[in-house]
Amino acid sequence: MKALVYHGPGKKAWEEKPKPVIKETTDAVVKIFKTTICGTDLHIMKGDLPAVIDGTIIGHEGVGVVEEVGSAVSSFKKGDHVIISCITSCGKCEYCKKGMYSHCTDGGWILGNLIDGCQAEYVRIPHADNSLYPIPAGADEEALVMLSDILPTGFECGVLNGQVKPGDTIAIVGAGPIGLAALLTSQFYTPAEIIVIDLDDNRLAVAKTFGATHTINSSDGKAVEAVMKLTNNKGVDTAIEAVGMTATFAICEAIVTVGGHLANIGVHGKSVTLHMERLWSQNITITTRLVDTVTTPMLFKTVQSKKIEPKKLITHHFKLDEIVKAYDTFENAGREKALKVILTNEQV
Ligand SMILES: [Zn+2]
Ligand SMILES: [Zn+2]
Repeated sequence: MKALVYHGPGKKAWEEKPKPVIKETTDAVVKIFKTTICGTDLHIMKGDLPAVIDGTIIGHEGVGVVEEVGSAVSSFKKGDHVIISCITSCGKCEYCKKGMYSHCTDGGWILGNLIDGCQAEYVRIPHADNSLYPIPAGADEEALVMLSDILPTGFECGVLNGQVKPGDTIAIVGAGPIGLAALLTSQFYTPAEIIVIDLDDNRLAVAKTFGATHTINSSDGKAVEAVMKLTNNKGVDTAIEAVGMTATFAICEAIVTVGGHLANIGVHGKSVTLHMERLWSQNITITTRLVDTVTTPMLFKTVQSKKIEPKKLITHHFKLDEIVKAYDTFENAGREKALKVILTNEQV
């Protein structure tokens, strides 16, 4: 089969790899129908995640058709259409029992990281019963690719951890796909004001159409002043960090109000400065989380009923074998006005 293989920082190739086989009785092999590229994949390509070794097939989001299941898989059979969760979970270990699938002792985020991922024609999914979700006939499968990672990530790490409530004023720093997923799912709770901050005017315009009440371009370095002006110098109840940089975390720290919540989503490669000399008395909470994907079944229902329409995040389409070109588009997201790119395997 063909797959997108990582060959060290800056090097990748669409090349021939052996088709995956069942290794454990709890495995399934899935034929990929649609997949996408994540910001995290770009971090891998830059060499920011050294655990990813040369020769790994990357990618952790997609939908497909079950090709083969191990003898212990009871929930899926050949021919079933499935959503692949970015998190692999056994459902039985101490962390899974706590709903913390991301820290499963025999899983977590391993797909396209520690084991071969789904930017390929086929992928092996360990613990298939707990790591795949069924797709009913007639569903819009392209929209469901957004359920592999970005919707649960924006919702669990940003909205749930940020304790967004009706009437709140919230700010989302970063209007990439994850920030926009937080924007879409925050509206389950009807916050009164949603301020979105980014450097890219196009993304801010998209955020407006997705329900942002105010947008701020932070390229002048004055985002904090702008938020304070909008909030009568109070700041926001919830600040969601959806970038993963020192500067964006600093904005969140500076704008969170007394008793508020700073919910980090971003993948941080460098340390941040924690201003405890100011924050020690402010009754705030700071949360971190790797997505557990425990809300995927709930989010699936909201997508099916069109309460949210994550398909709006898809800006580009490619054939699966055009993936190198798709990477080029996604890497130049500003120039290309790209959010999510969809790759379709036309052999399905
Ligand atoms: Zn992802
Ligand atoms: Zn587990």
